Amino acid sequence: MRVAIQGTRGAFSEAAARLRWPELDLVACRDVTDVAAAVRDGRADGGCLPIENSLVGSVTPTYDLLHEAFGDGTLHLSAEVLLPVHHAIMARPGATLAGIKRVLSHPVALGQCRIWLSKHLPDVELVSAWDTAGSAEIVGRGQDDSQAAIGPALAAGYYGLSLLEERIEDDPTNQTRFLTFTREPSPDSNTDLPKKTSLIVWLDHRPGMLAAVLQAFASRGINLTALQSRPERSAPWTYRFYVDVEGTPADPRLAEALESIEALAARIVILGSYLAWVGEGSVANAPQPAAPNHRPKPDMPLFDRRQRPEGTIITIGKIEVGGDRPLIIAGPCSVESEEMLLETADAVASAGADMLRGGAFKPRTSPYDFQGLGVKGLKFLAEARERTGLPVVTEVMSWEEVPVVGRYADVLQIGARNMQNFALLRAAGRSGMPILLKRGAGATIEEWLHAAEYVLAHGNPNVMLCERGIRTFERATRHTLDLNAVALVRERTHLPVIADPSHAAGMRSIVLPLTLASLAAGAHGVIVEVHPDPDHAMSDGPQSLDLAAFAELAGRIRGHAPQPA
Ligand code: PEP
Ligand code: MN
Repeated sequence: MRVAIQGTRGAFSEAAARLRWPELDLVACRDVTDVAAAVRDGRADGGCLPIENSLVGSVTPTYDLLHEAFGDGTLHLSAEVLLPVHHAIMARPGATLAGIKRVLSHPVALGQCRIWLSKHLPDVELVSAWDTAGSAEIVGRGQDDSQAAIGPALAAGYYGLSLLEERIEDDPTNQTRFLTFTREPSPDSNTDLPKKTSLIVWLDHRPGMLAAVLQAFASRGINLTALQSRPERSAPWTYRFYVDVEGTPADPRLAEALESIEALAARIVILGSYLAWVGEGSVANAPQPAAPNHRPKPDMPLFDRRQRPEGTIITIGKIEVGGDRPLIIAGPCSVESEEMLLETADAVASAGADMLRGGAFKPRTSPYDFQGLGVKGLKFLAEARERTGLPVVTEVMSWEEVPVVGRYADVLQIGARNMQNFALLRAAGRSGMPILLKRGAGATIEEWLHAAEYVLAHGNPNVMLCERGIRTFERATRHTLDLNAVALVRERTHLPVIADPSHAAGMRSIVLPLTLASLAAGAHGVIVEVHPDPDHAMSDGPQSLDLAAFAELAGRIRGHAPQPA
């Protein structure tokens, strides 16, 4: 195997190439363009190019070559290689550090040893050479004892130099990522080993274009491992974006994402797929389970009781949901301020609640109503959890917000209005977090269970169903708490079932009896709205219990006298 590298014998590129092809014959090339050309015109069978260093970042000449080298499909990316990079400073035998006036190396190597150089050789002239081992060669050929080279220790031996000091890089974790490639397609391309795909995207200057491209990956659970922009030379202030993702287009999710990016972007070029590095330093993730629409339908739905006759228990911190002890989730409809949340949290905690609820992102019928405090509200919830120890349930309204809400919440609530937001259900599934799935006000039990199936089928078994009242002809109450549904889903599924008497009633006076009825019908717990001053609540005041009424309710559930609020 003849392998082209940039640089001479002893270069880091040679060491990297040998990790892939131990028996290679070296074809030394002057620059990265020549490496690609050597493979293309048959002087070499494969090549190895540095693409990124962990200390100084991208190797831009390689990036700028990628389109030309791999855009037309003649050359095939085969594998990435991570090489630990340790630098040594070397000079002619007899030379001393004190006598060094000039240091030669590749500019990237000089950059990686900045700290050592400024400490030990602050006044020397730094000279950029075309490669590290090449600078060792120059020093070795010359007669000048005031010259030194920085490069791989191994190069000193090749060029008759002595090591003045080893491991002078700024950071011992220093490593470089290389891409190897061949003219013939790689025989490894069919294995099940983890792979990556690299592509280039050109975007029009319109708001959100880059976000939309990245979302095409994010929404399908595809991990992005690198993103680099480079200027588009003949079109000032436009850019090309280099993207690396895990997987190959043989995964239907990546194929779909690429199709959607093709529709969005001004242009896309797939550079190729190659083996991801799995040795030391690897950042490759375990492959995701196949998406449900691409795997066979199970014989019976995942929610079906027969899948788990003993029932599912979901553990959230110290709490178990789905067992015999009724779960009490309490808190305000909306997080209105830090003070009111902490006051409510303290009160519900001491009255016996197991978990704190509170909306930070609120689904409101009118766009002019209070929409919630957003991330600020999430932070107040996390603070309340710190203080009381109660895990937090809060609503997430869109799939894009799953990561941010998930960062603060213990349980993600999917609200009634979003019960069939399938993108959100898929993202909730991928999150793996406990999900409280409320039933849509107009959803049948069948639709509700299939919404739960979306989460389960995306690999997340932690789903709690929440009956919160359905819309009937009756107008005297806000909704009608469907106790048939509570009893029936207990029978039909193994998932924990929670009732929300507050939203079902819309009025606080019947929340207690509906709570007791729900538990009697088989609910594993209830979620109730509580506010220190319900008449002045910013949302759902009429159905919110005050602190004393909640203490009474909690006492009735726990079968003891109310604790003082
Ligand atoms: C809520 O819990 O405050 C809420 C908006 O609930 P639902 O989605 O059931 O209306
Ligand atoms: Mn509410």
